[in-house]
Amino acid sequence: MSRVYNFSAGPAVLPEEVLQEAADEMLDYRGSGMSVMEMSHRSKVYDNIIKEAEADLRELMNIPDNYKVLFLQGGASQFFAEVPMNLMKNRKAGYIITGQWAKKAFQEAKIYGEAVELASSADETFSYIPDCSDLPITDDMDYVYICENNTIYGTKYKKLPNTKGKLLVADVSSCFLSEPVDVTKYGVIYGGVQKNVGPAGVVIAIIREDLITDDVLPGTPTLLKWKTQADADSLYNTPPCYNIYICGKVFKWLKKMGGLSVMKERNEEKAKILYDFLDQSKLFKGTVRKEDRSLMNVPFVTGDKDLDAKFVAEAKEAGFENLKGHRTVGGMRASIYNAMPKEGVEKLVEFMKKFEEENA
Ligand code: PMP
Repeated sequence: MSRVYNFSAGPAVLPEEVLQEAADEMLDYRGSGMSVMEMSHRSKVYDNIIKEAEADLRELMNIPDNYKVLFLQGGASQFFAEVPMNLMKNRKAGYIITGQWAKKAFQEAKIYGEAVELASSADETFSYIPDCSDLPITDDMDYVYICENNTIYGTKYKKLPNTKGKLLVADVSSCFLSEPVDVTKYGVIYGGVQKNVGPAGVVIAIIREDLITDDVLPGTPTLLKWKTQADADSLYNTPPCYNIYICGKVFKWLKKMGGLSVMKERNEEKAKILYDFLDQSKLFKGTVRKEDRSLMNVPFVTGDKDLDAKFVAEAKEAGFENLKGHRTVGGMRASIYNAMPKEGVEKLVEFMKKFEEENA
């Protein structure tokens, strides 16, 4: 067996221990005589799996009792529509545009009501987080929406926006469980799990209970109404059972590692290795304003497209996979989620140094 260092933005690297444990349990899950893939979602065994996953997530994130945890499908992209469907009572909301995912959510919201651009960093290719201290938020807005970590551009809010008392909705797909969060600051926190948490196919949404009502936009499909899912504990219909089981294993792994404060320290340490190198390199340079840098996604360029391509190709040869930047921005991007070991980042930097010497 040979495993590469996988810097993919998602689906992404998972803890090896989790994969090994899943492999060991593949044919016979703990004496049940079947794989979790083959199990009824209504069985006692599966009920324990999903309940334990939720309990572990609650413990990790310190989720207050007045928040529901939902395991959903449809990807983060479907949730872009669920937000207005479930929250746009006044048919008006504010969006902060910090990249493609925020923009897509904004465009989706426009289908349902008036979505207002509160701020944007499009003027400098989304390489920074705009000043959010005094946004043009009006009283009639139902919520303020952010994408907290911008996977493609490598920016992250270090401070949440001043929402002037309005509900905050955050897409945390690419920074989920990477550091502690104060859940009470949000109305809704959600993300696709395929970056930091598990295999693609699950969206986890943490929603304040009072926001889960029957008062949704007319025409909202039953399955996209949060109340349907909340009333059924995410088992209204068949959930992505196996994927939730793997997420549960990742939660256990995170608890064993020491929880989210320890993950934050580890992630800061890993990111520093790469950013420190970029800051002094004569060949590579980071593309993001320093104070807004993500701990998870690190984009960088040489300034020469051909050299970028050469780097990506040679890195792949050397066992560093998926370093090509997003197709819309080019250059390189190293995604260094929770499960990327420090050693992977150190080895990448060693390789970059060597490449720099050879190509200076
Ligand atoms: N939001 C963010 C921050 C993302 O990075 C992505 C996907 N990479 C999405 C939303 C869309 O997720 P999905 O493919 O699950 O719809």
